[in-house]
Amino acid sequence: MPHTAESAWSECLKIIQNNVTPQCFQTWFSKIDPVDLVFESDRSKLIIRVPAPFHYEYLEGQYNSLLQKTLSRVLGDRCILFYEVVVTPDAETQTDHTSQRSYQVPASTNPSKHVATTPQSSGDQKIKSNLVDSYTFDKFIVGDCNNLAYSASKAIADSPGGTAYNPFLIYGGVGLGKTHLMQAIGNQVRQWNPSKKILYVSSERFTNDFVRAIQEKQVPKFSSLYRKIDLLIIDDVQFFGGKEKTQEEFFCIFNELQQHGNQIVLSADRPPKEISGIEERLLSRFCWGLQADLQPPDLETRTAILLRKSEEYGLSLPPAVIDYIAHHITKNVRELEGALVRLLAQATYTHNDINEELAKNALKDFIQRPLTTLSIDRVQKLVCEFFGIDQDRLQQKTKKREVVAVRQIAMYFCRELDYTHKAIGLQFGGRDHSTVVHAVKSVNDLIETDPNYRNRVDEIRRRVHLSHD
Ligand code: ADP
Ligand code: MG
Repeated sequence: MPHTAESAWSECLKIIQNNVTPQCFQTWFSKIDPVDLVFESDRSKLIIRVPAPFHYEYLEGQYNSLLQKTLSRVLGDRCILFYEVVVTPDAETQTDHTSQRSYQVPASTNPSKHVATTPQSSGDQKIKSNLVDSYTFDKFIVGDCNNLAYSASKAIADSPGGTAYNPFLIYGGVGLGKTHLMQAIGNQVRQWNPSKKILYVSSERFTNDFVRAIQEKQVPKFSSLYRKIDLLIIDDVQFFGGKEKTQEEFFCIFNELQQHGNQIVLSADRPPKEISGIEERLLSRFCWGLQADLQPPDLETRTAILLRKSEEYGLSLPPAVIDYIAHHITKNVRELEGALVRLLAQATYTHNDINEELAKNALKDFIQRPLTTLSIDRVQKLVCEFFGIDQDRLQQKTKKREVVAVRQIAMYFCRELDYTHKAIGLQFGGRDHSTVVHAVKSVNDLIETDPNYRNRVDEIRRRVHLSHD
């Protein structure tokens, strides 16, 4: 039987539910209504209703790829998604409370559907840049914490390959704006020099494409594609660690681009000298140009970011609420955005004004005690308790799968609390720091691919955050 809008959307929801956290499902997907499924001659169109403009923007920004993939699975590649966005008039400016408006917009088609780096044919290879339009310089708030990285990025975007900053390496912890800045360079270059060939890829994507090229005996095509790029942006190069063949290939590409004055921009989650498993000759090249770090945002920058983002969402927050969030969420910008969005969602659905009380309530589990006060020993205890194993076993040499799995999760949380790889290794039976790097990576991989595992990790995180030493 052909699908109706309701049946198609309910199938989509089943898939989505397996790929997002329950909290996120509740906030972002359970409030969507299917409106219509229209069949036209060569395509179909699914229209879904979302309750507010910021809801639509958030879905587009965070879940576009998931939605597109889900839709293709349920309704095939020829189906396009439309949002019907409901606009509820501001209660203060509108006396007629019943007048709701809505408008329809198509979802943007997902760039990652097209594999950028797989050579298509022997002729001129098409290159998709993988740039995301919304990451621009004007949306990036500058403060003491990111000033150097921002200025250098601007200089490079003004003159790619024409500054001494080649390569340019941005480093810093998660959620501090590395990807945003690198993408902003790409977006400006694309706008000002449309003929330049630009490519943004994560180091993992580079690795996967290279491995596929080997399997398909397409390495020469892979290499020649990269050698044509005017601006090559590689995100999160720490994931090249331990991948020797990929490093070798990247080393050759790097040299060739550098010699021809083509611009290379890289990012890493820590300073180059702390990246493990990368050959010395490649690491030293990373440092040839300029390195700039991103620090966690200071109070002024956090406040400015909150003001700007709430403005973007079309909502004005009382100063006391901005202040409350800026004082309590300090670690990174991604968390700051997450908190804001949670608050906006809560306010929209409960139809309450956003005041400090609501903010405190909505952000309860975002706002944690300073985490570094939790010792490694305490984290080990919590994780072992959760899995019902004896804490001593984490120190032992055993390679038993269940112990290794628990050890990796415990290491992952210690890392999340900002303990160094070395310090963690030492307290887990004197293990090498590369074991910790590997553990964190394994946990991250599983979080991305296994929803059950992700839920368990979320549950442990909740306990870690609630715990005291
Ligand atoms: P990273 O790559 O370092 O993990 P991202 O670039 O993905 O971090 O940034 C996380 C989120 O925070 C993104 O949505 C980004 O737009 C936003 N963000 C980070 N820094 C800033 C900033 N200085 N101004 C505005 N938004 C920012
Ligand atoms: Mg990033």
